[in-house]
Amino acid sequence: MKREDVIRAGTYPMFIDGREVPSLSGKTFPSIDPSTGQRLASVYEADAEDVNLAVAAAQRAFEGIWRTTTPRERSQKLMKFAQLVASHVDRLSWIECYDAGKPITASRAWLAGAPGTLEYYAGCLLGLAGETLNVSDKTLMDFTLREPLGVCGLIVPWNFPLSIALLKMAPALAAGNCVVVKPSEITPLSTSELGALVAEAGFPPGVINIVHGPGSTVGAALVRHPRVAKISFTGGSDTGKRIFRESADTVKRLTLELGGKSASLVFADADIDKAVDVAYTDIVRNSGQVCGACTRVLLEESIADQFTEALERRLSAVKLGMPEDPATEMGPLVSATQAAKVRSYLEIGQQEGARLGTYIQLSDRSELRSDAFLAPMLFHDAVSTMRVAREEIFGPVLTVMRFRDEADAVSMANDSPYGLAACAFTRDASRAMRLVKALSAGTVCINTGARSAVDAPFGGFRESGVGKERGKEALLDDTQIKNVRFAL
Ligand code: NAD
Repeated sequence: MKREDVIRAGTYPMFIDGREVPSLSGKTFPSIDPSTGQRLASVYEADAEDVNLAVAAAQRAFEGIWRTTTPRERSQKLMKFAQLVASHVDRLSWIECYDAGKPITASRAWLAGAPGTLEYYAGCLLGLAGETLNVSDKTLMDFTLREPLGVCGLIVPWNFPLSIALLKMAPALAAGNCVVVKPSEITPLSTSELGALVAEAGFPPGVINIVHGPGSTVGAALVRHPRVAKISFTGGSDTGKRIFRESADTVKRLTLELGGKSASLVFADADIDKAVDVAYTDIVRNSGQVCGACTRVLLEESIADQFTEALERRLSAVKLGMPEDPATEMGPLVSATQAAKVRSYLEIGQQEGARLGTYIQLSDRSELRSDAFLAPMLFHDAVSTMRVAREEIFGPVLTVMRFRDEADAVSMANDSPYGLAACAFTRDASRAMRLVKALSAGTVCINTGARSAVDAPFGGFRESGVGKERGKEALLDDTQIKNVRFAL
């Protein structure tokens, strides 16, 4: 589809109290197509006053109609919402193609899974229950209730805009909360389209609200708001730490899904083709802008050359192109700003002594004019003390290191402030089980890449975050337990 067929000509609205609305001030901001560097659309920008209206609407709905909605009714509404999202997947995929620079074929594949997120929690919520407790005081009957928290503020990044918005909305709504969603100001358009679907699915006004604007004003207003009970945030670690600090004043519940520098350990006895394939996907998929990607590749010395040669062959043939071309595997980064940040790491890594391998010359590709395009790259000969081995680059760059033996590999993998995921490739089952225990990360994958699915918990150790998204854990994290002591 062409831009003009999927992108609204008018200003993109917010969605507050069941209606698409402009901002109170009438202020707008542009959304940029990263593949051209041109303005794609205008979006209404909220102030603290708009956030107050959205939170008040959510609070009213929470204390009113949503509180009395039965689990079955909530489940039915989520299922209806899933059907509506499914019927719009193609259009939404095109919107993210232009707004986030996602190659259309990949964009379709990612969003095809989005209705499943809503369906999973529509089912999961029916099993939500407290428990009876065998307390020692025989004069009491003691039991727990699992109750919703109230209004949840959902702050979403730009790398998977709609998928992550739905990943946060589905468990929060399933648990009986009302939500105020703040999409990234860099990729606001696809989430903006949800308002009409929310209304059609029959969610009462105020249950779901969407506000747009920068994190420093709109996001911060949500974080500071005394009537917001929980913040669920995905994004950079520095922002996550700031939200952690600012939430302290109102003692909010938090789910923080932050950065990663996950390691993939490849042993000499591994299926090398499979390990190369996973590394290739980690660098090319979404132009490397994936928090769980294994961006440190640790290779046993005896197979290191064989591995890197095979990966370099694959990278030199990657189909880098405009996102609207169905043959494109890798498009631009989300913005010229993000590409500039990645370029700064290319300088840093070389100054630190790592060798940069590039496999495609962008200067030969005159059609890829925007500054947001970057070719895939590898840093060779890196060591754990280098910034390019420690910091999240969030682009199509992997850092390759070599290890002597299993103990060396584990100590390199765990030597990171992050702990989101880790992968290991080996045919030795005993070693695999030792690694499962030794690797310090929220997700450990053996002979497969660090991928996440809605039905298994995902969330990091250490500076990679707090709490879990996905799985029944996300639903439980969106509830609070009330203990009832009932005198007999
Ligand atoms: P960010 O962390 O600044 O923004 C993520 C979301 O938080 C956006 O909606 C933003 O508006 C909001 N936000 C920003 N400041 C806020 C504040 N003070 N209070 C409340 N909300 C706030 O991420 P970014 O600028 O989009 O990217 C910065 C870096 O974060 C990237 O370079 C990348 O390394 C990392 N990142 C990580 C992930 C991930 O999934 N782990 C996703 C996106 C970005």
